[in-house]
Amino acid sequence: MEKRRIIVARGDGIGPEIMQATLDILQAANAPLEYEEIEIGERLYQSGVLTGIPAEAWNLLQGNAVLLKAPITTPQGGGYKSINVTLRKALGLFANVRPSKAYVPYVPSHYPNIDMVMIRENEEDLYAGIEHQQTREVTQTLKLISRPGSESIIRYAFEYARAYGRKKVTCMTKDNIMKITDGLFHAVFDEVRAEYPEIESDHMIVDIGAARVAARPDTLDVVVTTNLYGDILSDVAAQVAGSVGLAGSANVGHKAAMFEAIHGSAPRMAGKDIANPSGLLQGGVMMLVHLGLAEAAEKVHNAWLRTLEDGVHTHDIYREGLSTKEVGTRGFAEAVIARLGQLPQQLKPVHFNASGIQIKLSPAPAVRKDLVGVDVFLDWSEAARDPNVLGQRLEPCGEGGLPLKMVSNRGIKVYPHGQPGIFLSDHWRARFGGDGAVSREAVLGLLERVNAAGLEIIKTENLYTFDGKAGYSADLGE
Ligand code: NAD
Repeated sequence: MEKRRIIVARGDGIGPEIMQATLDILQAANAPLEYEEIEIGERLYQSGVLTGIPAEAWNLLQGNAVLLKAPITTPQGGGYKSINVTLRKALGLFANVRPSKAYVPYVPSHYPNIDMVMIRENEEDLYAGIEHQQTREVTQTLKLISRPGSESIIRYAFEYARAYGRKKVTCMTKDNIMKITDGLFHAVFDEVRAEYPEIESDHMIVDIGAARVAARPDTLDVVVTTNLYGDILSDVAAQVAGSVGLAGSANVGHKAAMFEAIHGSAPRMAGKDIANPSGLLQGGVMMLVHLGLAEAAEKVHNAWLRTLEDGVHTHDIYREGLSTKEVGTRGFAEAVIARLGQLPQQLKPVHFNASGIQIKLSPAPAVRKDLVGVDVFLDWSEAARDPNVLGQRLEPCGEGGLPLKMVSNRGIKVYPHGQPGIFLSDHWRARFGGDGAVSREAVLGLLERVNAAGLEIIKTENLYTFDGKAGYSADLGE
């Protein structure tokens, strides 16, 4: 079989030891890999490379790079950039994949049957970091959810389920509140799931879903969600599973991918041959499945399960009575190698499909887009913040097919016929138009009139329809 090229970063702290153990096991399993090494991390940071990644490493990381990365020590203090964040952004790694699995009784867990995978969108949502303070009282951040971004992660989740022989994909959003952003993610989920009829699928509102992750994680299989929810839920899942030290994770893009352990570089254990290489080895197994090398992945994973249940344990999971032999990093690797070709007897053996994971997006649908109005945001705190005063000042501005429809404050309609007695901030939104197509010039003319009325515009947001459907939310009370 033709060898697949990967890039290896041995990392810092315990990194070099657990990487050597992992590479030894992969090689003994005859995984058809050849690798080149890059040096990234602490030494580079200390020599003044703020990203921790030197130019030579970037040369190798171009294109379809598949990186197996040991943990890195991020120096304390300002100026240094996290290697993970830099790689994620530079390589377009849109999917973060974190399995949480219990290995009871060999590793204690509150949930002996937990076996879930959290697949988190990694590039969009509130993490674009587009934030503003607009008035003395009000700040905002933009939540960006795109169709291609949603389709990429959702397809990845279904392809993952296929490659790993998983039964169900659950999507979690808050689309009962965020009907447009989370609504798009949910709608794309419904489109994509139809192409995978052999895999069960459902949708949960994320608050109920979070309760499920915390209280009944053993009922979940693959979970796919947006960036912020995934960030929170993957930590909850890791905590409830109780096997953080044994978990690997993947960051995957359309071209490049990076595989690693969940834990850090544990500097105090470095050089002592005591660290558990299992987390990185799990990352390595995920890499093999990603590359379509299912046979080698199965062989390694099953030998590892057999080692666990034979009680050959490193210090971190060694327990009197359950463990039979305490080994170091090298000894553990040797124990796994000795069991290559064997299946676990108590734990369930794994079976992967050789499809690999490929994401192909469907062509963008042709959609008619019409400008129909504008929301004008204002900083206003005159006249005891009386909405009627503001409304009456705004009414005359709405000529040329852009009549004032309403004014709202923090999403609640306050003019005309607003609800009395609610708290009013200094941040107002006036909605104009919405009755049919208008020109961009009409919108600019309106803004000039609002400005001439002595009102401070802090931001505007055009209102569009897409194939006749409003691409903007209604307000409470509207
Ligand atoms: P850590 O994961 O390194 O250590 C937390 C605890 O887990 C420690 O008690 C450690 O001894 C233990 N531990 C971790 N890995 C182990 C293993 N393989 N075998 C046995 N025990 C293990 O987290 P930390 O101490 O918060 O961070 C140390 C360094 O790692 C920091 O510089 C941090 O920035 C970095 N870090 C890197 C990554 C990464 O590269 N992806 C992730 C997390 C932390």
